[in-house]
Amino acid sequence: MMMNFYNSMSRSKEEMKPLEDNRIRLYTCGPTVYNFAHIGNFRAYTFEDILRRVIKFNGYEITQVMNLTDVDDKTIRGAIEQGVALKEFTAPFIQAFFDDLKVLNIEPAEVYPAATDHIPEMLDLIQKLFDKGLAYKSDDGSIYFSVAKLPGYGKLAHLDREKLRAGARVSQDEYEKESYGDFALWKGWDENDGGVVWDSPWGKGRPGWHLECSAMAMKYLGESFDLHTGGIDNLFPHHENEIAQAEGATGKPFVNMWMHCAHLRVNGEKMSKSLGNFFTLRDLIEKGWSGREIRYVLINGHYRQPLNFTFDALNAARVSLARIDECIDALTEKAGTAEQGTIPSWAQKALQSFSDAVNDDLNIPESFASVFNLVREVNSALHNDGVSSEEAAAILGLCNNFDAVLGVIRFGRAQQRAEIPEDIQALVDARAVVRSEKNWAESDRIRDELASLGWSIRDSKDGQKVKKF
Ligand code: AMP
Ligand code: ZN
Repeated sequence: MMMNFYNSMSRSKEEMKPLEDNRIRLYTCGPTVYNFAHIGNFRAYTFEDILRRVIKFNGYEITQVMNLTDVDDKTIRGAIEQGVALKEFTAPFIQAFFDDLKVLNIEPAEVYPAATDHIPEMLDLIQKLFDKGLAYKSDDGSIYFSVAKLPGYGKLAHLDREKLRAGARVSQDEYEKESYGDFALWKGWDENDGGVVWDSPWGKGRPGWHLECSAMAMKYLGESFDLHTGGIDNLFPHHENEIAQAEGATGKPFVNMWMHCAHLRVNGEKMSKSLGNFFTLRDLIEKGWSGREIRYVLINGHYRQPLNFTFDALNAARVSLARIDECIDALTEKAGTAEQGTIPSWAQKALQSFSDAVNDDLNIPESFASVFNLVREVNSALHNDGVSSEEAAAILGLCNNFDAVLGVIRFGRAQQRAEIPEDIQALVDARAVVRSEKNWAESDRIRDELASLGWSIRDSKDGQKVKKF
């Protein structure tokens, strides 16, 4: 099987193959831990989770590194406002981030390095850039990267180097393409930084945001590695500057392929903290949506297309997942304790189209189309008694293969079953009694009552099966 991904550098689809052995080394820009991540951030992290799972689905091993940005303007401001040390301020947000990953069934990365634990590596990198004549100290005590001195600067963002204003500097970590210039590697201490300060051979200060990713990526993945990703807003200046720092220091190609996801939007605008148009994962869970439903919405759009967040989409996810659940339940019932037999040829075709879709630049909407085709075919085959128990068991195995990529088919269901509240269980039990008395009218009335409380009930030969809508 061949994986083709869109490389933001070449702006075309290319075959992804590991640079070394059977292992793909992936760096994914992680959260700035000054607040709870919003679901726009989680669009980026679910995209990267799908990428990771597709790589594994194709039989490769993976080493993924995701950094935690625990020092920048926003974290420093937050710590000062609360009057606590920086690490004390960021710790609960780091914990919340890991908790949220679990809620969304995002597989953990192999390493989560925090910027503040890697200051020596960053200082080494600055030293190398001085040695190459690419870094200089300015009068404000900060150290800048001289973009004019690196011929390849601008290759990822396709910058117009003619527009380069010699000696122009930007001290902010984020800025527009039009105002590009020399960027800060190290920010000299000022009073806004309070007690957040490190010593360096060039004076007291703290690292620039871009520097941390180059230093930590090379520490954990080597000077050249396979894949680097983030949201599209990371492409410039963050990733351009990461390349400059790494390639400037080593003279070697930093990354083989760059991938970026488009934004999650609300009413046509990027979901972001600064616009205030965001939902955290916690907001949506409180409104009664499950991590499984939210994950479904976040992954079910092509990652390079902007995705509009709506509650209608969450509702549609609930309905789609219920269709999958019903099919899985029916297959499970049919399979009973049978061993897996051969997969019928019509189901085998679904596997083929599923693999083709995910390997064609992570076309997840298309892969869901394969899943729903299979659901339709299974339903009609079961209806016509056209599936043996062994085949049903084999198709369930196939669904597990799909789920190794999608992570929404099995995930969260056991939990749903285990958590039937007492009042619902009481109604279910009462219904069993009236059914044994053949009181069908009362049985139907209880079914309706359960439905109005958000629970569906199905009668099978092993009794009643209850499930949350
Ligand atoms: P930040 O914490 O702002 O550094 O962002 C962490 C990650 O989330 C980065 O990869 C961003 O590109 C990504 N991101 C931020 N907002 C959005 C959004 N609305 N849609 C998709 N990705 C986003
Ligand atoms: Zn980064």
